[in-house]
Amino acid sequence: MIVQYEGRSIPYTLQRSKIKNLYIYIKNGEVIVKAPLRLSDKYIEEFLNKKSKWIYEKLEENKTKVKKEKEEKITQEDVKRLQKIVKENIYKYSKILGRSPKKVRIRDLKYAWGSCSSNQNISINLKLATKDERAIEYVVLHEMCHLIHMNHSKNFWNLVEKNMPKYKEYKKLLA
Ligand SMILES: [Zn+2]
Repeated sequence: MIVQYEGRSIPYTLQRSKIKNLYIYIKNGEVIVKAPLRLSDKYIEEFLNKKSKWIYEKLEENKTKVKKEKEEKITQEDVKRLQKIVKENIYKYSKILGRSPKKVRIRDLKYAWGSCSSNQNISINLKLATKDERAIEYVVLHEMCHLIHMNHSKNFWNLVEKNMPKYKEYKKLLA
């Protein structure tokens, strides 16, 4: 069955059982409605249409959650690939920029794709393991440029762009 919200059709599964109230919940990107045995279809439909905004929002929220959970499943192979790409690009840009980090660590960062400390230690987010190689290269270059400019000044971005003219495009692959 289907509930309408602002021109969108949202399908749902209706399950009837010996319960007293009507329940709506969302599981794995699917809307499930549990209804008492004797409640009329018409009543259920009206009720759902009144709640359509809420259903739509909850569904979107759930989809985002499911997508995130999928992305977070990083395999051992993904990690190896990430380590290899990071290593190669650290080497590549160390030669080009004439600076190299003291330490490079791959770890589960919460709020950034990478970071560069004032002690010249670079951290790379483990979540990059499932991302496009060019996006990983961008993050490595970004952090390496911080070895020269510890800020996001115009000079910093010029340096990034000089070494990766398409960085804006690659950055989008992180989304
Ligand atoms: Zn930065």
